[in-house]
Amino acid sequence: MDYPRVILKPKEEGRLQKGHLWAFSNEVAQAPAGVEPGALADLFPSGRPAGEPGAGFIGRGFYHPHSLIAFRILSSQQEDIDDAFFRRRLTDALMLRQQLYPDTSAYRWVFGESDRLPGLVVDRYGDYLSVQALAAGMERFRDILIRALDQTVHPKGIVWRSDAPVRALEGLKEEPPLVVFGEVPERVHIMFENGAFFVDLRGGQKTGFYFDQRDNRQALAPFCKGKRVLDAFCYSGGFGIVAARAGAKAVVFVDSSEAALKLAEANAELNGVVERSTFVQGDALQLLAHENPGGPFDVIAIDPPAYARSKKHLPVALKAYEKLNALALGALPKGGILASSSCSHFVDRPMFLETLRRSARKAKKNVRIIELRSQAKDHPVLLAMSETEYLKFAILQVQ
Ligand code: SAH
Repeated sequence: MDYPRVILKPKEEGRLQKGHLWAFSNEVAQAPAGVEPGALADLFPSGRPAGEPGAGFIGRGFYHPHSLIAFRILSSQQEDIDDAFFRRRLTDALMLRQQLYPDTSAYRWVFGESDRLPGLVVDRYGDYLSVQALAAGMERFRDILIRALDQTVHPKGIVWRSDAPVRALEGLKEEPPLVVFGEVPERVHIMFENGAFFVDLRGGQKTGFYFDQRDNRQALAPFCKGKRVLDAFCYSGGFGIVAARAGAKAVVFVDSSEAALKLAEANAELNGVVERSTFVQGDALQLLAHENPGGPFDVIAIDPPAYARSKKHLPVALKAYEKLNALALGALPKGGILASSSCSHFVDRPMFLETLRRSARKAKKNVRIIELRSQAKDHPVLLAMSETEYLKFAILQVQ
């Protein structure tokens, strides 16, 4: 089968040849008119010699005439993009997760570009799957994907989550979560080595659970034994539950969302730690601002939503991170631990550290870094594509 040909401008192929999977709209010289958003196409460098149809072929993937990300490479072969292709990709992705987490079937099964499935996210909660198609091209394969997911793990139910605002960048509509296969109960139960969690696949945030922090919660656990812990921005209580199970004396869970706190409370009950838990609905910043230095917390975890949703929001976002971290550091006694997260892709690691330095100065604290971490291993970072890294996580100690 012949696919439409998209040709890059001169000298724009270098990054792609090193393994990056996107071509941006300003890098494209030529594309056939009338191609539908997300249609399959083949990408070539500039100056392809005449009469050699395959010469210089870069990749086969999704072309989008109106998106800033004009081309997303699915394969560097001229192979068929069909059921078998998706089954192969899904199986490869599954094998890694099964190696990483042999004792549970709860993980991010597909992390988009890092699994060479651009724009696709699949979270697996045992028998149930939560799927996001964030690229127009992936959305076009909805039926084939559902079939391939079914053939690979035989789930009991699949939820299609089309409520992510980034879909708009691809001209995709935001729609309510939809059960597209089988049945999905209101709450699904998952189990890790360090905690059990209820997940609401349909009503929960994003795909239902923040798997990206799973390894970080574990990294914080050793600091929590016998301590008073604040899980600010707790959502379903990931950090606080793991802390409580690791022996925290008391945990305060804070979130602005009532639904999130209800989940956190159900999770505290599920894990048998509810007697040591307190739930506060409100603004984490307000709470921290009224906390006295050396006050009730020895360990504070802060995990705010992405403050910088684009590059242009960066200056304001960095100020907000600085303020939040300064409040948290200010509330901690000598020896206190801050676990600080930023999930904004646009805040890179040097910016994150510089923000923490400013926060420490503002709070007039000497602070040392105990550990710097990133997203969990089921969200691998593609070496050639820094866009696939987004989570920064620091365990800091006040001296
Ligand atoms: N730490 C969680 C994930 C946090 S997601 C985990 O490990 O699963 C970010 C959370 O911050 C969301 O639940 C959102 O409701 C909450 N939030 C947003 N603004 C807030 C604010 N000002 N104060 C408290 N919570 C807030």
